[in-house]
Amino acid sequence: MAATGTDTLAARLLAGDKRALARGISLVEDDEPDGWALVREVYPHTGRAAIIGLTGPPGVGKSTLVGALTRGYRAAGKTVAVLSIDPSSPFTKGALLGDRIRLSEHFLDPGVFIRSMASRGALGGLAEAALQAALLMDAAGREVVFLETVGVGQAEVDVIDHADTVVLVLMPGSGDSIQALKAGVMEIPDVIVVNKSDHPLADTMIREIRGVLSLAPQRGWRVPIVKTEAVRGEGVDELVEQLAAHRAFIEAEGTLSERRRRNLMNEVLALATYRLRRALETAVAADPEAQRLLDEVVARRLDPASAAEAILARQPPA
Ligand code: GDP
Repeated sequence: MAATGTDTLAARLLAGDKRALARGISLVEDDEPDGWALVREVYPHTGRAAIIGLTGPPGVGKSTLVGALTRGYRAAGKTVAVLSIDPSSPFTKGALLGDRIRLSEHFLDPGVFIRSMASRGALGGLAEAALQAALLMDAAGREVVFLETVGVGQAEVDVIDHADTVVLVLMPGSGDSIQALKAGVMEIPDVIVVNKSDHPLADTMIREIRGVLSLAPQRGWRVPIVKTEAVRGEGVDELVEQLAAHRAFIEAEGTLSERRRRNLMNEVLALATYRLRRALETAVAADPEAQRLLDEVVARRLDPASAAEAILARQPPA
C-alpha cells in the first residue's frame, strides 16, 4: 500500500470508521509493515480509552458478561470495542464463534466494534498484536475497550497486563482459579466477579476469595467482589460502578499513569525482545560456526550456556 493509502486509512480510522478499524487490525494481526505504519501514525491519538481486561477460566460467563456490560455502557452513551483473545486456539478470525453469537445483539450498533483474535503460531506475537489492535481501537475513539481472554495462563496474563483495570471472572466451583491466585500465578486483580451467583455455592466462593485477598498485601485499593448473573444482567450495574470507582481511584492516585508507564515499558521490551530473537534466529541459521557450536552441545562437549555466550559474541545484539 502506498503512503497515501495508509494516510487515508489512518484518517478514516481516526474518524471512527469501523471498516477502517477492522482493516487496520487485520494489518497488525498479519504483521504487515503497513499495520506498524498505521499504529505509528495514530499513536499520538491514543491513551483516551478506558482499557478493561477480563480474564478467567472458560465457561464462567466472560462473553455473556461483556455483552451485558456493553449494553450498560451503550445505555450510558459510550462507544465500546471488544477484543476477544484466545491464545490456545490455532484458528484465526471467526474462531470464537460462541463469543460472536453472544455479542450478536450488538453487531448492528455502529457504537460497538467486536473482534476476535486467536494464536497465529508466532510465539510472543499474539500479545503484541492484541495490544496494537487495542491501540487502534483507542485511536478510533472507542471510549471503552474490553480485552477478553479465555483462561489464566501466561499468554493471557501478558495480554491482560495491558489493561488499566483487570477483572477476574470466576463462578462458584472454580476453585482452581482461587488456587492460582493464592499461588501467585496471577497478580491480584482490581475487581473480582463471581458470576452465576444464582448457584447455591456462590457465598462459599466469596468467603474463599475473601480469605485469599486477606493474605495479599494491601495496596490502598480494596478489591471489590461483585456478584453477577450475566445472563439476566443482574449485578452488572454494580460492576459498572466498581469499574468507574477503580478508574477514579487510579486517576486520583496517579497509579493510572504509573501503570501505563510500566505497561508501555513492558511492551517496548517485549517488542524489542521479539525482534532480537527473530534476528538472532536468522543469523544463527545462516552461520556455520553457530551450527558447529550446537553440534558440540549435542555431543556433550560444550554446555548450552557457553554455546550461547559464544554465539552472542559472534552475533552481538545490534
Ligand atoms: P466464557 O467462556 O467465560 O466466555 O463463558 P460464556 O459467556 O460463554 O458462558 C458460558 C455459559 O454459561 C453459557 O451457556 C452462558 O449462557 C452461561 N452463563 C453465563 N452467565 C451465567 C449466569 O449468570 N448464570 C447462569 N446460570 N449461566 C450463565
